[in-house]
Amino acid sequence: MSRSLILKTHKALVSKKVSCLELVNWYLSEIKKSDLNAFITVTEESAIESAKKVDDKIRNGEKIGILEGIPMSLKDNFSTKGIRTTCASKMLENYYPVYDSTVYDVLKKAGCILLGKANLDEFAMGSSNETSYFGPVKNPHDKTRVAGGSSGGACASVASGLATFSIGSDTGGSIRQPASFCGIVGFKPTYGAISRYGLIPLASSLDCVGPLTISVEDASILFDLLSFYDPKDERCSPIKRKPTLNCLENEIKGLKIGVPTNCFYGSDEETYNAVENAVKFYEKLGASVSFFEFPELDLSMPIYCVLGRAETASNMSRFDGIRYGYKYDGPYKDIDDLMTRTRSIAFGEEVKRRILVGSYVLSAGHKALYKKSLNLRNMVIDSFNKRFTEFDVLMMPASPTTAFGFNYAEGDPLKMQLADICVVPANIAGLPAISVPCGYDSNNLPIGLQILGKQWSDDLIFNVANVYEKENFCAKIIGGVQYEV
Ligand code: GLN
Repeated sequence: MSRSLILKTHKALVSKKVSCLELVNWYLSEIKKSDLNAFITVTEESAIESAKKVDDKIRNGEKIGILEGIPMSLKDNFSTKGIRTTCASKMLENYYPVYDSTVYDVLKKAGCILLGKANLDEFAMGSSNETSYFGPVKNPHDKTRVAGGSSGGACASVASGLATFSIGSDTGGSIRQPASFCGIVGFKPTYGAISRYGLIPLASSLDCVGPLTISVEDASILFDLLSFYDPKDERCSPIKRKPTLNCLENEIKGLKIGVPTNCFYGSDEETYNAVENAVKFYEKLGASVSFFEFPELDLSMPIYCVLGRAETASNMSRFDGIRYGYKYDGPYKDIDDLMTRTRSIAFGEEVKRRILVGSYVLSAGHKALYKKSLNLRNMVIDSFNKRFTEFDVLMMPASPTTAFGFNYAEGDPLKMQLADICVVPANIAGLPAISVPCGYDSNNLPIGLQILGKQWSDDLIFNVANVYEKENFCAKIIGGVQYEV
């Protein structure tokens, strides 16, 4: 049986087992019943209207595309014309963009139906969805734990059957870490593969867009649709893309896998065992596996903290209370006072902290820190390139632990940041990386296997992940819409 929820849903629609309106209404009623806080805005009216149009087409015997009528959610940092786009911040609580992000535009044209905008950490800054102005997201596998972040709502919506798939952003792991916590597939492509036009930026040299799905095949279908040159994103690459869907079943005999041992420091035993078992599975299929020490990897987090914060501070400067977004409406002395009052009220703690650190890094007296981090980043990229002459892919956990409880890092923001230790290196080097479910711990919490490759080996990553998933499929939809075709 196909693991692709997109294909299953498509078949149910074309065989008239379910009408698109019925399907959308099921999802909307499940969203209403859910207490996970996965959505910030639900787009009920437009979803119903679009569903009726798809049904008209089917009734008239017209052929529908594979994504036509498929209900989706979208992380609430993608601009959607006329639909509130908050970035989970008071700053944008009442912001209605006047244009669509490229990603949403393409999905809409392919016929996907938007159910709503998914919760996230404020401006995508966080690893637990607890920095959201709209409150945290609960993990569908255990509601006393976080869904991960920053794409927590997007991942929870897919894992709990409130959307067929979602789209997230990944600057320092925000697709892969919550995907691993929620037991679904999360793919961060090569930097520059998918347009970020209309994605509200966090750190522009790191930001990537990618799919969140139940299966590798679904992620590949979405990647092939969304990965193309878009001149509206100046860092979107004009390089010719290889389709990934037709590579999923390729044999992986002879594949060279490297496992960096330092990735396991601080990881819990059950995570270690699950990843080790996954690696053994590949060995059985004829891959060669080498464990090795990769010390340069450890530089990624400090580099991320310097360059990421600097870029964030620069990107956040657009929110000044003058052009758009929240504006302080009491009396103020001058423009500086207006900006200070606006930002003091409308930004949360984590956003303020990152603006402060970033401004410090960018200030005239500290150029050396910024320059050194840039140099170190090149060093990390070089060492990855060297490793990829020995190995085809690297494997490691997506997160050192399974989903943690609420307030896990209260008063210690660094502890929270360290939860991203395994995911940040791929952002520093612009590499494609996937998190695919590889089992559950003794608390029944999902564990994610992370697979990384060299730039533009996205097709290989999908292939390697799919070969594993085929024999070890363990994503579960907890509640929500359940239907068999
Ligand atoms: N958790 C990371 C952070 O807080 C990831 C951010 C992201 O990828 N958007 O920086």
